[in-house]
Amino acid sequence: MENNPWYRAQGELEKIAKQLNLPPLLLARLREPDRVLIVSLPLLKDDGTVLRLTGYRSHHNHILGPYKGGLRFHQNVTLDEVKALSFWMTMKCAVIDIPFGGGKGGITVDPKHLSERELKSLSKLFIKRLAPVIGPALDVPAPDVNTNPKIMNWMIEEIKNEKIKMKNDIKENELLATITGKPVSKGGSLGRTEATGLGGTYALLTALKKLGKKPKDITVAVQGFGNVGYYAAYFLKKAGCNIIAVSDSKEGVYVEKGLDPKTTLNCKKEKGFLSGCYCIGSVCDLGNGRPITNKELLELPVDVLIPAALENVITQENAPQINAKIILEMANGPITKEADEILHKKGAIIIPDILANSGGVCVSYFEWYQNMHNEKWTKQEVFDKLQEKMEHATHEVFAMQKKYRGTLRDAAYILALERIKKAWKKTAL
Ligand code: NAD
Repeated sequence: MENNPWYRAQGELEKIAKQLNLPPLLLARLREPDRVLIVSLPLLKDDGTVLRLTGYRSHHNHILGPYKGGLRFHQNVTLDEVKALSFWMTMKCAVIDIPFGGGKGGITVDPKHLSERELKSLSKLFIKRLAPVIGPALDVPAPDVNTNPKIMNWMIEEIKNEKIKMKNDIKENELLATITGKPVSKGGSLGRTEATGLGGTYALLTALKKLGKKPKDITVAVQGFGNVGYYAAYFLKKAGCNIIAVSDSKEGVYVEKGLDPKTTLNCKKEKGFLSGCYCIGSVCDLGNGRPITNKELLELPVDVLIPAALENVITQENAPQINAKIILEMANGPITKEADEILHKKGAIIIPDILANSGGVCVSYFEWYQNMHNEKWTKQEVFDKLQEKMEHATHEVFAMQKKYRGTLRDAAYILALERIKKAWKKTAL
């Protein structure tokens, strides 16, 4: 039960719904996704065998706008995980105040075991199966774990082939708005790749200011050195923080005096693994780096810990050993309910996922908007608008916490649910 994200999501909803006296009809609606789609994906492997895979898309809610959320390719994807992630998308879009609802999808598959041709074929088949339930005004998928702009481009190409089955008078630019996270040359937005990590940076810097702390005095450890973790480390280093450890699914690297995320990434690309990347370039000169396990990284005595990989990495087993004073949840649902309580009792400040990682969907909304209105914004325009949104949302969450005296997570839920309640009253669906 502790590790089922869907039960956790429901628990979080019930708790705040009671506090806010949410209308029973609205609560009933939010308790379950509006609909879920389960699709069968038979894949012809290069060796001639057939792999029978399953994919999911959950439409949690569209009170604020079209369903919105990523597509995840991972061996641990389950229907409950996808439902939970779609619920968190509903809350996230409301916190950051964009006109989208919540959706999520995924395939239970380890893409590392697929060839390029197999991955392309699977991606195209998946979006073909989803075609009847997606569209710029209905549901707008995006990348998530193990999916990227290249995969989004394969998908949008397939959507163009499927156009006839969608609204047949749909314009080319609107068709592009069916999927976000596309390559920039194919209608994507500048700044989308950096958006989630940069958004988390803005949220953390705003929180540090409120707490009277300066970036130069802050040490940071990042678990998950993928898109989100890398850019969070990169922009926090740029802001003056000291990144002392990063890790990926295998293991990590620890450099007491601080590492340079860009150099570390280049080293990982060169060597193919992270744990040997403490002795290169400027990092090498420090001469005191070492490989580190994921367990060790989570327990480092840092000021800020950033889980940026997957759900449930901080549990009741390891929470007592966590030493960070601030946790920036860049992954979705990285802390279990039990661990959350332990950490709060220890006085840790948790900047919740539905605020911390909302920069990604925020720039996805900018991409959708640019496609719909045939506009092209500069990267600086995107970053400026993102900064304004993230700082504003962070201030609002802190203000809510002051008013209701709960945790920042409670405050973010209150902010989201009040917004949804207001819109729901209007439509009375
Ligand atoms: P990614 O696939 O680019 O990177 C994931 C990273 O996590 C990789 O470095 C991988 O090696 C590492 N990892 C996997 N399992 C791990 C483990 N057990 N321990 C340590 N590291 C592990 O994915 P991403 O896009 O960076 O997403 C990371 C998280 O952020 C996910 O929870 C995702 O849902 C969330 N998120 C992503 C976005 C986005 O825009 N990409 C937006 C919001 C939230």
